[in-house]
Amino acid sequence: MYLKSIEIHGFKSFANKIVLDFHKGITAIVGPNGSGKSNVSDAVRWVLGEQSARQLRGASMQDVIFAGTQNRKALGYAYVAITLDNSDQALPVDYKELTVARRVYRSGESEYLLNGTPCRLRDVNELFFDTGIGKEGYSIIGQGQIEKILSGKPEERRELFDEAVGIVKYKQRKKVTLKK
Ligand code: ATP
Ligand code: MG
Repeated sequence: MYLKSIEIHGFKSFANKIVLDFHKGITAIVGPNGSGKSNVSDAVRWVLGEQSARQLRGASMQDVIFAGTQNRKALGYAYVAITLDNSDQALPVDYKELTVARRVYRSGESEYLLNGTPCRLRDVNELFFDTGIGKEGYSIIGQGQIEKILSGKPEERRELFDEAVGIVKYKQRKKVTLKK
């Protein structure tokens, strides 16, 4: 499985719709300060269900919507979609390609889509349990995160190992069952 493309429209500094295509191997995104490099990784975090505005370097969730500039009006919504190649069936679904999308409007209304079909955040989360992908996954290593892992509480470190060995989904199901 690998990340094939990211589509961004109206998210943070990306007023125009852009599509970034990736191929197998290493891709680096370079650019001057403030040109939007971190906004790309924020977009990936966000589409995978990030609920914390602070994690996305904003004060409120609406801060992810393009806020306008001197010569460009603000936009009414933010949209991000990532497409993953799943031809190795690393994700437990029949699709060879999977697109996860999220949209939020200024009104606060928001939706998640899996291959174009509306779904719940929970569906997105479940899809990525134990893959290392997801907002709690280790597929995105942010600044300061290594330090956090090394100096974190044992329970927090344990969560990382749970994800790596693939037992998060069972723990989650147990939690849901015990609640019923
Ligand atoms: P550095 O090299 O300093 O880390 P960077 O390339 O990672 O820079 P980002 O942090 O991704 O840059 O981008 C910051 C820019 O995004 C700022 O100019 C900021 O004004 C802009 N920005 C953030 N949120 C919005 C928004 N909602 N609307 C418009 N512009 C935004
Ligand atoms: Mg940056």
